Amino acid sequence: MTTLPLAGRVALVTGAGNGIGLAIARVLAERGARVALNDLDLEAAARAAQTLGEAHLSVRADVSSEADVEAMVGEVRDAFGRIDILVNNAGVGDGGVPTLDQSLAVFERTLAIHVNGTFLMSRAVAAGMARQGGGAIINLGSIAGELGIPVRTAYSVAKAGISMMTRVLACEWARFGIRVNAVAPGYVRTRLVEGLITSGRLDARRIAARTPLGRMGQPEEIARVVAFLASQEASYVTGAIVPVDGGYTAFGGPFDAS
Ligand code: ADP
Repeated sequence: MTTLPLAGRVALVTGAGNGIGLAIARVLAERGARVALNDLDLEAAARAAQTLGEAHLSVRADVSSEADVEAMVGEVRDAFGRIDILVNNAGVGDGGVPTLDQSLAVFERTLAIHVNGTFLMSRAVAAGMARQGGGAIINLGSIAGELGIPVRTAYSVAKAGISMMTRVLACEWARFGIRVNAVAPGYVRTRLVEGLITSGRLDARRIAARTPLGRMGQPEEIARVVAFLASQEASYVTGAIVPVDGGYTAFGGPFDAS
């Protein structure tokens, strides 16, 4: 019998009630991990955990709240005894508002959830991981953190912050045996993106044409790279921002890529 690659591991995935986070939780569970599914929306997390089976747990917390984060990490440790894998996935859109019309409140909230959230979550698990002899942290970046996309100021700055935090923490915590990496998804068929397409704010055909692989991604295609980075298969990978974008950021034009 082959052992599953993540057997015996405990994973905590933030924003796991929907979309990419849910796909990540599912793939980690399929590979043998026990998964704590966090979401601000506890009902969504509980529904998601139920679909994965009894070995898993749902936990509510706002990742931008220090008190929530500390309490949640304690709750997961009480339930499972350890945390080996942290996936910082919780996120929000910034409304796609032109910067001249963007409010400070939305700008700050976008940074608080992505940047403060990734900082608070990572800090909360790292000492425990170090005591266990190591762990893996995987952050969700974005093509928007690497390329300048108009009207995505807050989201892009937040995702660029996550990329740099990935590098800094990888360097700082290598001595603890903690690997810190990020995936940078391109356009993925999630509720958010489907909504933008339906409302006419995003042209699916043009995105496909701009993408060397000629299509958008599926949540599972992001999740499988996260699972790889979480596993021993990636034992010499740290501080990497892995594009999972069908070649979108590799393409320099001048015309359609596919
Ligand atoms: P995507 O499709 O890109 O994965 P979603 O909006 O479907 O995006 O998923 C993001 C998840 O993150 C949602 O379930 C949302 O409730 C959750 N989330 C948003 N803000 C927070 C927060 N502050 N703390 C925890 N979870 C959050």
